[in-house]
Amino acid sequence: MLQHFWIIILLVVVSWNLGVIDASAGDADPKYRACVKECKETGCVGQRCFPYCKFSSNDAPIDGPWYIQEPLYLRWKQWDCQSDCRYHCMIDREKERESLPGSAPLKYHGKWPFKRVYGIQEPASVIFSALNLAMHFHGWLSFFILIYYKLPLREDKRAYYEFAGLWHIYGLLTMNSWFWSAVFHCRDVDLTEKLDYSSAVALLGYSLILAVLRSFNVRDEAARVMVTAPLLAFVTTHIMFLNFYKLDYGWNMIVCVFMGVAQILIWAIFGGVTRHPSRWKLWLVVVAGGLAMLLEIYDFPPYQGFVDAHALWHATTVPLTYIWWSFVRDDAEFRTANLLKKAK
Ligand SMILES: [Zn+2]
Repeated sequence: MLQHFWIIILLVVVSWNLGVIDASAGDADPKYRACVKECKETGCVGQRCFPYCKFSSNDAPIDGPWYIQEPLYLRWKQWDCQSDCRYHCMIDREKERESLPGSAPLKYHGKWPFKRVYGIQEPASVIFSALNLAMHFHGWLSFFILIYYKLPLREDKRAYYEFAGLWHIYGLLTMNSWFWSAVFHCRDVDLTEKLDYSSAVALLGYSLILAVLRSFNVRDEAARVMVTAPLLAFVTTHIMFLNFYKLDYGWNMIVCVFMGVAQILIWAIFGGVTRHPSRWKLWLVVVAGGLAMLLEIYDFPPYQGFVDAHALWHATTVPLTYIWWSFVRDDAEFRTANLLKKAK
């Protein structure tokens, strides 16, 4: 959960760069602009031409059967045309600049010049997002097996651990979040961006609720509802605001930093006052997560056009996820042992 604080901070930093400062040094370059403009008119960059760029004067596709002349398809076509033109002009421009002495890669529309692999925009980030997803699946599965097959169950077959259900929901939300992160890094369009942001905000909000419930050991149903209801209402409203009103990167950053700082403080204080046998795992995740965040602050361009700071940062959360679920399993064992001791 703690590592998600860093995840969100980074997400926010990146999105802020993307949203507020959409114009970057690369796309301010007149040569690049001329290239894109010409490409949109002719559909070609140098010798390469793109089928998506064939429009007639009234923006209807020139060729193709009637069923692909739908407005939705047309919009995708225009988008694909712009995307292909920008991409190939960027690659050509960067190749030209490489030959000049002392030139470093520039950002285009808020992003480093990544090389596509089979149409995937940021393959390294996609791979690491998938690894995070796999690691969370492994963590959640091993937690599931531990509480239902290894630890003793109550007479009604429920687990002794009172937070089991809450961790199951957490597992689902985090896997959902990494899934959309992988999709977003494959291809960033309006829809994938919103899905990625919404999933991340939902995860962050839920993990704050879970931090409060677990660290204050809230077991009573009514008390749990009292903590959850206002936070859930706020997070839901915020997600609806982002999706249906305005994807406001600055405001989203404030919300995410607030929710992130709140839960990191809660876990840090919990780690400080508790005699939990696995509190060192909590501390490890906070400290390592903080160090990993330096990667996002010293945002460097992709090595060989593939691995940039953001991708490396996604890589560092993979081992942290392992430690995090290991803490959750320890917590289940610890609580169960305590409850059984009391019962005797
Ligand atoms: Zn990412």
